[in-house]
Amino acid sequence: MRKSWFWLALSVGVATLVGAPDPNVARTRVADGFDFPVGKPNADGYYKARGFRPNGHLGEDWNGIGGGNTDLGSPIYSTANGLVVFARDVRLGWGNVIVIRHIYFEGGDLKTVDSLYGHLDRIVVKEGQQVLRGQQVGTMGTNRGMYPAHLHFEIHKNISMGVTRTGFRHDFTNYYAPSDFINPRRRLAGGGRSALIAINTFNDPRFFGPPSGGSANLGAGRPTRPERDPVQEAAKKQRSNTFRVDRFGGLDSF
Ligand SMILES: [Zn+2]
Repeated sequence: MRKSWFWLALSVGVATLVGAPDPNVARTRVADGFDFPVGKPNADGYYKARGFRPNGHLGEDWNGIGGGNTDLGSPIYSTANGLVVFARDVRLGWGNVIVIRHIYFEGGDLKTVDSLYGHLDRIVVKEGQQVLRGQQVGTMGTNRGMYPAHLHFEIHKNISMGVTRTGFRHDFTNYYAPSDFINPRRRLAGGGRSALIAINTFNDPRFFGPPSGGSANLGAGRPTRPERDPVQEAAKKQRSNTFRVDRFGGLDSF
């Protein structure tokens, strides 16, 4: 009798798990190390044109050694195994942006970081896609001619930010200096297996709508796209000669 109750409870439990998976959790491959996102895996042929500065430049700018736009269209690679959680044209100072979520073992704990790739000429992955370390995710761009071609690359300790600057401290509480994060983590134990990570962690209502290209499941359960697109409106406002330091923190942040 007790045994049958056990099996009943088990089958209900399994049915619950299968029928109603948690929409805010996804499975991805644990990182086996972090590489540089250009000139894989060691940034060969590229240099860091601008470094990370708290309350200033919140990532690193990577340029080809040829200078100018000689690196336009060159491949951008995922720094590690992970899941694409954002792949959209954000316009403004950002342009095409990809955010990839990674989990890795450190000191016996599973830790999570986001890597962010900005100003891309092309995005070649979709939200919800699994990627491997060194897999091409996009190409280097200029954000519609706003900058000489380069990659703006960030590593986020805080996985709630995405492309949102407002409401988050612009320092090491939320960000890593990317090279300082990567260098001691080039090869990590425990990679390759799969583990669960949180998704749908971005709170900015501007990015609840569908991505600009391709399908995505990550927005499931979110409110649908607002009737007016606040990103487009902000861009319009910026173009109409009323420039001010906007909520993205001004150009210094890029
Ligand atoms: Zn930058």
